[in-house]
Amino acid sequence: MDMWYTEKHSENVGITLKVSKTLFSGESKFQKLDIVETLEYGRMMLLDGLVMVTERDEFIYHDMIVHPALFTHPNPRQVLVIGGGDGGSIREILKHPEVELATLCEIDGLVIEKSVELLPSMAGEIDGRNPRVKLHVDDGLAYIREHQNEFDVILVDSTDPIGPAVGLFEEDFYRLVSGALKKDGIMVAQSESPFYHAEIQKNMYHNLRAVYPIVEMYQAFIPTYPSGLWSFAFAGKKYHPIKNFDRNRAAKRTFHTKYYNEDLHQGAFMLPTFARENIATD
Ligand code: SAM
Repeated sequence: MDMWYTEKHSENVGITLKVSKTLFSGESKFQKLDIVETLEYGRMMLLDGLVMVTERDEFIYHDMIVHPALFTHPNPRQVLVIGGGDGGSIREILKHPEVELATLCEIDGLVIEKSVELLPSMAGEIDGRNPRVKLHVDDGLAYIREHQNEFDVILVDSTDPIGPAVGLFEEDFYRLVSGALKKDGIMVAQSESPFYHAEIQKNMYHNLRAVYPIVEMYQAFIPTYPSGLWSFAFAGKKYHPIKNFDRNRAAKRTFHTKYYNEDLHQGAFMLPTFARENIATD
């Protein structure tokens, strides 16, 4: 019998992927975690039934949540990831030779444990053996309260604004993140789909602008995410992702990136009109 996994993106629209087997299915105190083998997208992680990552398209999300900020900040030595328990963001961060320490603060230890076991292409650097990586199983909100003025870049690689991640889209959180950043720090957060989540984006960018002088949206194409059009919020205390972008350093990077490059960096901030209108200030 064929097994299909389906996620509804709206009342009448969704995505469906053929599944060959379930590798893990279980619950933590925060959420339901499933890792399945699909026929066309490799292994896939689901949280509360929603696609988080697939082996085939995760490179896009992880390239785009990491590299624009790290090629804008002149010297990103201390980098924090809030969420990101699949390890993909940490993998990309460690490619940057300037990074001395990459810290992961993930609320759900089960996500880290099962990613290390079943998603090695993403979680290879979060198995506790890399001295440039520090792991914390904690709520990001609580963690950053204790770590003020410490980071050059903070990446919020969270789930959608439901369950444990609701607070990660609020102004109070963005203010705490600003305090955890050094005076020229940069925060980037996944900011949902311009096509389906206009209301979430409106509130999120409103909250960000209340805290950061520089707030810009950029986009990426992620096939297994709602509508395929996804976005990220760049929030800077000093640096602008285009004006202060070190194109030369990006062009001369010593490591391979399958999606990100110096032209795409600039193009990703050129938004379609409806996306601009989602986050336009009144
Ligand atoms: N790429 C995915 C997306 O855009 O939907 C995100 C992947 S990553 C697995 C999301 C992680 O955020 C989950 O493992 C979840 O447990 C974690 N998370 C949610 N709320 C959190 C919080 N308050 N503090 C730290 N981690 C949190």
